[in-house]
Amino acid sequence: EKAEQIAAWRGPGRTADGHEVLILANVADGVSARAGAEAPVQGVGLFRTELAFLDRSNEPTVEEQVALYREVIDAFPGQKVVIRTLDAGSDKPLKFVAHADEPNPAMGVRGNRIVQTHPEIRDKQLDALAAAAQGDGRATPWVMAPMIATVDEAREFAGQIRDRGLIPGVMVEVPSAAIMADAILAEVDFVSIGTNDLTQYTMAADRMSPDLATLTDPWQPAVLALIARVGDAGQRQGKQVGVCGEAAADPLLACVLVGLGVTSLSSAPAASAAVGLKLSGVTLEQCRAAGAAAVAAASPAAARDAARAALGE
Ligand code: PEP
Ligand code: MG
Repeated sequence: EKAEQIAAWRGPGRTADGHEVLILANVADGVSARAGAEAPVQGVGLFRTELAFLDRSNEPTVEEQVALYREVIDAFPGQKVVIRTLDAGSDKPLKFVAHADEPNPAMGVRGNRIVQTHPEIRDKQLDALAAAAQGDGRATPWVMAPMIATVDEAREFAGQIRDRGLIPGVMVEVPSAAIMADAILAEVDFVSIGTNDLTQYTMAADRMSPDLATLTDPWQPAVLALIARVGDAGQRQGKQVGVCGEAAADPLLACVLVGLGVTSLSSAPAASAAVGLKLSGVTLEQCRAAGAAAVAAASPAAARDAARAALGE
């Protein structure tokens, strides 16, 4: 699309025939949240809390955490804010978490699995999130856990979040969670698909490896088939299914995702206008056709071609 058209797009997100799609921002702290609020987004789809603590050698106190979470919540007054609990470990080790020396950190104690070794760190974070949500008409934050692999993990997390008066969800970024999407969605109020890790784990290809870019492509039909499975489950249960990985920043792929049942797209704020503009020019029916054609393709290149053809390009 033309640069001026992209710059002029102000939202809200919807297809040409009026099907609403929330366009949301990925943020890392108060500064990036306030900057993100300038973009044409309707809230935050992923606040990566661990990024705010990467340089800390001591665990932040509950008071420090409350202040940080409030900065982000208050940058989007009355809007949806999805906060992710610490995704420490693997590519994002935190100095104050005594990570064990593991041979395969990407498949080790990371994300929500921290409850196995340091339950007090997650407890404190959840208490801080509950405290941050208090006060003068703040909208209730949506809180989700990273690296959920089982229904039991989703149930345990949802209980902790509901006990604190917050809205529980989980990320779908491990293939087992996509396969079990129906049972997991029954435990939570929403899910958000992390396509970066879902692609890494589905394709058994390190997301950091420059040699494996063909495999770490969210257009891989195997990845799209898992997303379709989650989208179907969300539609059956009437629950929101977001995407918050890099895939949500690709305008063509955004159409495919919406066609597969995804209800919100969260990306770097700079990508939001191009995605919103693209969706405004296609119908939900076209998106569904693009989604079905992409899932049925045999390769990422064929999936892209099939999606373009279905959208009349
Ligand atoms: C993802 O895995 O797609 C995701 C959004 O989480 P992160 O990139 O922080 O691992
Ligand atoms: Mg991830």
